[in-house]
Amino acid sequence: MKNLYAFDFESLKEEMVLLGEKPYRAKQLFQWLYQKEIDDFSLMSDLSLTFRALLKEKYFLGKPTISDTQIASDNTIKLLVELNDGHKVETALLRYRYGNALCVSTQVGCNMNCSFCASGLLKKQRNLSVEEMVGQLLVMNDFLKSINDEEKVSHVVLMGTGEPFDNYENVLRFVRLINHPFGLALGARKITISTCGLVPQIYQFADEGLQVNLAISLHAANNKLRNQLMPINKAYPLEKIKEAVEYYLLKTNRRVTFEYLLLKDINDSIRDAHELANYINNLQAYVNLIPYNEIKEKDYKRSEMSNVQIFQKVLTSRQVTSTLRKEFGYDISAACGQLRAKSSG
Ligand code: SF4
Repeated sequence: MKNLYAFDFESLKEEMVLLGEKPYRAKQLFQWLYQKEIDDFSLMSDLSLTFRALLKEKYFLGKPTISDTQIASDNTIKLLVELNDGHKVETALLRYRYGNALCVSTQVGCNMNCSFCASGLLKKQRNLSVEEMVGQLLVMNDFLKSINDEEKVSHVVLMGTGEPFDNYENVLRFVRLINHPFGLALGARKITISTCGLVPQIYQFADEGLQVNLAISLHAANNKLRNQLMPINKAYPLEKIKEAVEYYLLKTNRRVTFEYLLLKDINDSIRDAHELANYINNLQAYVNLIPYNEIKEKDYKRSEMSNVQIFQKVLTSRQVTSTLRKEFGYDISAACGQLRAKSSG
């Protein structure tokens, strides 16, 4: 039996043909699965009984199950979802004025070893499949429905546990699936992939011809510090990232976001701000400044707000556009970098 959520639109069309059906079946099924969000073949009323019986015999509609939930005072929702093999990952819904962004995990654990990160405390166990990523979105919508929240996931950020570009093929198939007009139809500009800077995949992504947003976690603008914070920098140092970003900008004509986590006395000085401005120089990019949420396993401290303001002023004086990220779910540890499965499964 195959999980029907594993298919993107093109592969579902091929699958239907292999089954002896017409390719338009893929459109019908996509509408049931993702537009009407029906997860029971017997309710798919415009499909013939024979076809429904065939579907039941060959496929199942497998979503992860919710094993824990937390709702913060700001309405951030965190779900711990259990996958088929017992592994658990977290997914969080962040409420912005412009919509509801779901932070999706892409791997069980992570191998990138960023020194400040809670999610990466568990080493990578495996990549998530397409159906496990789309499953996070579907169970969040189901959960919203169950608490009578009429809203739905409107944006997706691939910033949960895992490095999305270390699971490149599945992540791209997932993005195409949720972007498909017969499916969830999330606009490409409502989807953001965040990478710690895997250079070959930035080039590859630039060639995909997608309008999806790209965010790069920088956190330091000199190699010495970045090597300490993010060991991946030893393989792909700042100069290489910059070359890849220049290629991306040329190919896509889009802006890039540089994420910059502010760590007290580590990367939040005036000098650090100037270094960051020098790095960005005239790249078509803006900076997302992120307040650090302290965790007991790490010694890093959050920057003083006065320092954050000075840091941002320096960027502004150097014509670098930046925003200070709103904080989410502080009281349930769902903020970015703190998505952590309580159980490694
Ligand atoms: S910050 Fe992202 S890439 Fe780095 S260890 Fe954590 S999950 Fe992995």
